[in-house]
Amino acid sequence: MKRKILASALTCLFVIQSASIINAVSFKPEEKNRKQRCAINKGNPSQNPPADLAVKNTPQFVVFGFDDNRFSGLPGSGGNGGMRFVLDLFKGKKNPSGLGNSKTFDGSPIHFSMYTTSANIVTSLAAENPVYNKKVWHEALIAGNEIANHSHTHPSGLEYTESQWENEMVTWKSTVTKPFNSSESPLNPNEKFGIGLKNKSIKGFRTPNLEYNEATFKTLRKLGYAYDSSIEEGYQFEQDGTNFYWPYRLDWGSPGNQFTAPFVGLNPLPPQPGIWEIPGYTLIIPPDSECENYGVEPGLRDKFTDVTKYYMPDQGKLSGLDWSMFVLFKMNKKEAFATLKYTFDQHFKGNRTPMNLCMHSCIYSDKYMELPNITVQERQQVLTEFLDYVLSKEEVRVVSNAELLDWLRKPEGLKD
Ligand SMILES: [Zn+2]
Repeated sequence: MKRKILASALTCLFVIQSASIINAVSFKPEEKNRKQRCAINKGNPSQNPPADLAVKNTPQFVVFGFDDNRFSGLPGSGGNGGMRFVLDLFKGKKNPSGLGNSKTFDGSPIHFSMYTTSANIVTSLAAENPVYNKKVWHEALIAGNEIANHSHTHPSGLEYTESQWENEMVTWKSTVTKPFNSSESPLNPNEKFGIGLKNKSIKGFRTPNLEYNEATFKTLRKLGYAYDSSIEEGYQFEQDGTNFYWPYRLDWGSPGNQFTAPFVGLNPLPPQPGIWEIPGYTLIIPPDSECENYGVEPGLRDKFTDVTKYYMPDQGKLSGLDWSMFVLFKMNKKEAFATLKYTFDQHFKGNRTPMNLCMHSCIYSDKYMELPNITVQERQQVLTEFLDYVLSKEEVRVVSNAELLDWLRKPEGLKD
């Protein structure tokens, strides 16, 4: 589920790439009040909050994006947890009340994004009876969460052509926009029915395995998608979680892609005008000096030295996926919670880049594979305790990426 990311020694090419990234940074001018500020965010890549917002006036967004969504967790489905757990976790929770401004989601119900693979609601392709998934996906939709495109069949698409991508994206759309029928019986699944998603609420895409190519983005633009959330940011050596790039438009290309592409032998993605990128950000394991503050033994970064040849203990970075923590790095509960909390704290004490997490609801299901160092209950506890922790901060707003995009286009401060 993870795209290989290289991080080895500095190369001449990297120095050139890095210089061009630094030139693209816009440094923050003096703080201005709302009327003085240009309220429109053009989306140029920046390590400062958009529209000249002062950091202390900027919401700390946290986005939980759940991919794939294979296991419903409903009675009769043969499993517990999964989507049922996610829906129950979010149910009834609200963002801090702030000043009551709906533009900054003050006091609004918290939401998540679901990057669904639509084969999971097709009888011949689904991992469990598709009627159960239709029911929980629809429940997520009517609760105000975002349903976004994660392809129809979850292919490995690095070599895909535009027509192959188009086929995946269009089939996804035609599958999920079929009407929802609450009385559809698991005993008699009917392909005429879907989850009732409306065309106008389709905004975002995340590519399977975070594997994209230029054809992915050309197709997204052709089909009118507003944003993508497939590119990773934060591997740049000088970035430590306090100074990641804010989400940007791809009119200027992608700093994260420009950094990582040479390491994996790919050409950087050419500019893709008009489409927003809401990147997935790396997670960062606490350094030795901070381990005690996060309830783990010093040496945690070194513990994972041999996990992948690309992992660098002095950086302590891994892809921002729960899969990376639990499956690839085989973290236990304490280690995963420490990593999430430390990464959040870096965002929050730094430039408040949105923390856009790439999660998988199936990892919180008892149908998921056995993992050596953490039970499904403990994985659920990590997510539950992390959500409680971020919601304890009055500047935090837990939103879907569709909601975050609305804010990015016209940013407002918490105290405006
Ligand atoms: Zn996936």
